[in-house]
Amino acid sequence: ERGKLSRPDLIRDKAYVNGQWIAADGGAVIDVDDPFTGEIIGHAPSLSEQQARSSIDAAERAFPAWAKVLTRNRGAILRRWFDLVIAHQEDLARLITLENGKPLKEARAEVAYGAGFIEFYADEAGRMIGEIIPAPVAGRRLMVEPEPIGVCAAITPWNFPLAMLTRKAAPALAAGCTIIAKPASQTPLSAYALAVLAEEAGVPAGVLNVITGKASMIGKLLTSSPVVRKISFTGSTEIGAQLMEASAPLIKRLSLELGGNAPLLIFDDADLETAVETALVAKFRNSGQSCIAANRIYAQKDICESFLDAFAERVNALAPGDGFDERSDIGPLIDKAGVAKVEEHLDDAVKGGATILAGGKSSGGQLMPPTLVRDVAPDALLTSEETFGPLAGVIPFETMEEGVALANNTPFGLAAYLCSENPATIARAGRDIESGMVGINTGLISTAVVPFGGVKMSGLGREGSSHGLAEYLNLKYLCQAGL
Ligand code: ADP
Repeated sequence: ERGKLSRPDLIRDKAYVNGQWIAADGGAVIDVDDPFTGEIIGHAPSLSEQQARSSIDAAERAFPAWAKVLTRNRGAILRRWFDLVIAHQEDLARLITLENGKPLKEARAEVAYGAGFIEFYADEAGRMIGEIIPAPVAGRRLMVEPEPIGVCAAITPWNFPLAMLTRKAAPALAAGCTIIAKPASQTPLSAYALAVLAEEAGVPAGVLNVITGKASMIGKLLTSSPVVRKISFTGSTEIGAQLMEASAPLIKRLSLELGGNAPLLIFDDADLETAVETALVAKFRNSGQSCIAANRIYAQKDICESFLDAFAERVNALAPGDGFDERSDIGPLIDKAGVAKVEEHLDDAVKGGATILAGGKSSGGQLMPPTLVRDVAPDALLTSEETFGPLAGVIPFETMEEGVALANNTPFGLAAYLCSENPATIARAGRDIESGMVGINTGLISTAVVPFGGVKMSGLGREGSSHGLAEYLNLKYLCQAGL
């Protein structure tokens, strides 16, 4: 049965505030549906403004004590949380598939990836080391000490409902911050399950709060509260810009992981098999619903035809279907609007002269067949907007300079991919691509140990690695004289 977990109590229909599970005042709920069947599979409370505010109060009250917990003890709690997430990997994966629709094998991988952040920051907690700087004048001691920012907020999207939250909550907690998390309304269940396990791991009341409700109300509340010192957001550029503007009057710190429009450059000197594998993973993972999904595939003229032949074969072999069916490679899209956008991009590409080599339109429902189009015009919609679906468009190019220029012709710069066996091509293109991350001969670049983030309009700050911890720390400089 789809929704059956070995621990049914991981499925919650209440919010988690100050260590308590609370229903919405007045009982308002958000329905959570299964994107494959369309059936309602759970509920999240739609909290009132006053209830949402109480989560800020709880995080504020919990902060002083949490900040003083020895780093090794905070690390130990995180380690227990990691162990619990891994122990419940299968249940959590089922929950992700249930509310997000992705194939179970990808949901399991997401749990492992998401748990990786908790594990990494469990260790990192003990490595927030200060500095003593040699003084330029006599009799002084110059010290630098990292300290937690304070109360933080995390606003996360539906495409990786578990990992996008651990990526923010784990470094926040390691740093000694307390946090209010607002998951996407489409996928709140994974976040609540994480809170169940965090409590079991020993995270004290008020340190991690999870709230759901009207996004605009919660956004306004978090940005206008002087208590919330930092907002970490993953989602659309439009909402990110709104949050930035709303955060300006109180000079809040921000980490923004926004839209991408990742190019994949396949050069003539690429290994064909590697190029096909890279394109498959970079484009079709999570049915293309990823901010680092290869949105535009540029193939150089001499390799273009053989790449298209080999890629079309592999795209045709991908199985769309129910995420709970172990054979499925491509799950349903998150909602009808997602399907409409992919269809719009496909129509536009075909109108501009592209030819369909695999797939085509959806046959109703939210399942889109993996689709490949060739000879896409360089100004097609699918090159300028995130498609966020299983539609790959291939655009031929002549020279390396032209390829890189096409890749950079976007206000975004999150991820980019390139395939080549020539070290000089890799070095030049890698240098000239305007992007926070570059996958070279691979479409799989995400892990907890690296700084994930973008340049240009793709965002601010980095998540993962020690740089991701710094996003939750202030540096205090102490200058002692008279020595
Ligand atoms: P997506 O296209 O991934 O749904 P959004 O930026 O709309 O991108 O959503 C990402 C997250 O931001 C979700 O948790 C969503 O509920 C939240 N969100 C949407 N609108 C607002 C808003 N006005 N203020 C704060 N958060 C918002």
